[in-house]
Amino acid sequence: MLYFDHNATCPMLPEARDAWLEAVERYPGNPSSLHRVGDRADRAMNLAREKLAAMLGCHPLDIVFTSGATESANLVMRHAAAAYSEFASIWVSSIEHPCVTQPWRFLFPKRGVPLRSDEHGVVRLDAVESALEKRRPALVAVMAANNETGVIQPWSGIGEVCREHGVDYFCDATQWLGRLPAKGLGSVDFVAGSAHKFGGPRGVGFLKVKGQGAFQGLFRGGMQEEGRRAGTENVPGILSMVKAMEVRESALGQRAEEPRREWRDSFLRELMARLPGSQVLGGQVERLWNTATVLLPAKDCRQRFAVRLDKAGFAVSTGSACASGKEEPSPVLLSMGVAVEDTSRVLRFSAGWETTESDWKALLNGVLRVASESDSTPGME
Ligand code: PLP
Repeated sequence: MLYFDHNATCPMLPEARDAWLEAVERYPGNPSSLHRVGDRADRAMNLAREKLAAMLGCHPLDIVFTSGATESANLVMRHAAAAYSEFASIWVSSIEHPCVTQPWRFLFPKRGVPLRSDEHGVVRLDAVESALEKRRPALVAVMAANNETGVIQPWSGIGEVCREHGVDYFCDATQWLGRLPAKGLGSVDFVAGSAHKFGGPRGVGFLKVKGQGAFQGLFRGGMQEEGRRAGTENVPGILSMVKAMEVRESALGQRAEEPRREWRDSFLRELMARLPGSQVLGGQVERLWNTATVLLPAKDCRQRFAVRLDKAGFAVSTGSACASGKEEPSPVLLSMGVAVEDTSRVLRFSAGWETTESDWKALLNGVLRVASESDSTPGME
């Protein structure tokens, strides 16, 4: 099976697995315990915290280890509800992951203001800037790179204008981290990351918070993470996550993503040439090097297409199910101006660092084969 669903989750890196196993053996203690077994675990975890902080460019105590980006985003929204004035508004982009939009809608039903993306899937810096000239929210949330389209957002510029206007900024960097350099994210007030998106284990992540101490957590019941996240830390998971990030950062240091971007682009060029009526979403703007999101020709339903690709040996992503009719169309696609009826014919192919040029070529042949079978199958309307 060729796996093209890395934006959903990635296989664990061997180095990360080794780090996890080693930590299980070497650090069996609870990092909060006072004895030496606990202290050793605490030191190992804090060394990992320092390494992660150095990669992001922030203070080690700005890092709160969590169970993943969903928890990190919920932490930010809970903090916003507790820490800001009851009249403050919270701006959230229309392309955020549900782990940001759902707690936001729940906690700020009347004070939430959506920030629309443009037709390319970009939350434009000039739009955020001019909105900030007129009004001042307490918090702005715009992700670093979109999970459905791979479209890169101007997070660095948004961070700067937010800073100029004295507004906090939350950047969900879940899809960015491990694919593009982490440096610079440390200057953003709040940053979420999840290990399994870059070759670490599932169920571990982090939130970079703004300074120490002034953070209102979600859980009560312990003073771990400087009182910002109660509960015994997942030491093997944390060490493994940081190892995975180090491996990815080192690959980025050698510009190993550049040929991979070209393999993806060449797949898309060929696909567009040979599958008339298909279209690349976000094709005119900067995207993650691993992601190709395609609007299929009008007659195809992506779920049936994905099932046929699965049978042909390719794991790809559909998002919502067009056949069941139960799921809502993707807000990300709607925000880009994709018509409701067209949202059910979008497929996402997301590669990993281990995906080869010949994997992309095999995928091209697989998609073309499935498309030609669909052409000759009654009912593929
Ligand atoms: N944010 C983005 C952009 C994502 O793509 C995902 C996962 O798909 C998440 C947050 C949630 O990550 P997790 O399920 O690891 O908490």
